[in-house]
Amino acid sequence: ARSSAARNIIKPEFKFEDMGIGGLDTEFSAIFRRAFASRIFPPAQAKKLGIHHVKGMLLYGPPGTGKTLIARQIGKMLNAREPIVVNGPEILNKFVGQSEENIRKLFAEAEKEYKAKGEDSSLHIIIFDELDAICRQRGAKSDSTGVGDSVVNQLLAKLDGVDQLNNILVIGMTNRKELIDEALLRPGRLEVHVEIGLPDEHGRLQILKIHTAQMRANDVLGSDVNLKELAMMTKNFSGAEINGLVRSASSFSLNRHVKVGSMDVTAADVADMKVTQDDFVQALGEVKPAFGVSEDELQ
Ligand code: ATP
Repeated sequence: ARSSAARNIIKPEFKFEDMGIGGLDTEFSAIFRRAFASRIFPPAQAKKLGIHHVKGMLLYGPPGTGKTLIARQIGKMLNAREPIVVNGPEILNKFVGQSEENIRKLFAEAEKEYKAKGEDSSLHIIIFDELDAICRQRGAKSDSTGVGDSVVNQLLAKLDGVDQLNNILVIGMTNRKELIDEALLRPGRLEVHVEIGLPDEHGRLQILKIHTAQMRANDVLGSDVNLKELAMMTKNFSGAEINGLVRSASSFSLNRHVKVGSMDVTAADVADMKVTQDDFVQALGEVKPAFGVSEDELQ
């Protein structure tokens, strides 16, 4: 049917940079090839070719690098429903059986729709933030309740069960891939693993452009601001830290317009407000990268 063919078609007009995600083009290509390409085919065709959809993927890497941004955009690109986002620790419950029940509930809606509509069902995306929180305890001696074990088992059961359910994509996210239970990462489960690392200089420039776009549009970005130079100066910064840097820079700019002792700032006071290169340089003194060792430090 036409509708089922249309369901998974990737909207070609999507560009990562337009979506406010910088420096992850390579990662996105990998995600596309390994997890999406199959979804371009109408389900019936895919079946003929023996193509099976990837049911799950793992995005891993340091905090604040855009994993959540990507996971959400993936849903938009695949015409999926608004994703369900859960935090690993949220799933865990001290009451026996409740954690498994929480997992079951996550899949219930998609299962119901698949029963009713089959291949015409829309795609459901389930995002697990901090997936390691669930997995860490599996088989761990210290976990006397066995809660972690049964949660992972329940998740495995659900993932194995979605074989017939073509309408689910599970995206797990973690800062610590080594803590994720191997069983979850096998083919047929969260089988595509993509590292979302710290951005390189080119990526940082893209991210700086994204996070200063509004300032530029409102003509408050000083003409002396050199984003290329700032991209060089922000080695080891994550996307979130670059965002923090931009906010810090604007706070320095605002501060120049505030008279100490007065909370009164009029429109006239800030009419000529600009965020300057010097504001960014001051911000660099305030916002520091949390991760990564710079090459200078290694030398
Ligand atoms: P965590 O592991 O802590 O959950 P995460 O990798 O999921 O982190 P996000 O929540 O996607 O990180 O990013 C946090 C914020 O940092 C975003 O809302 C965005 O403002 C900024 N950011 C991070 N990465 C990027 C990027 N690649 N491009 C543009 N902005 C980014």
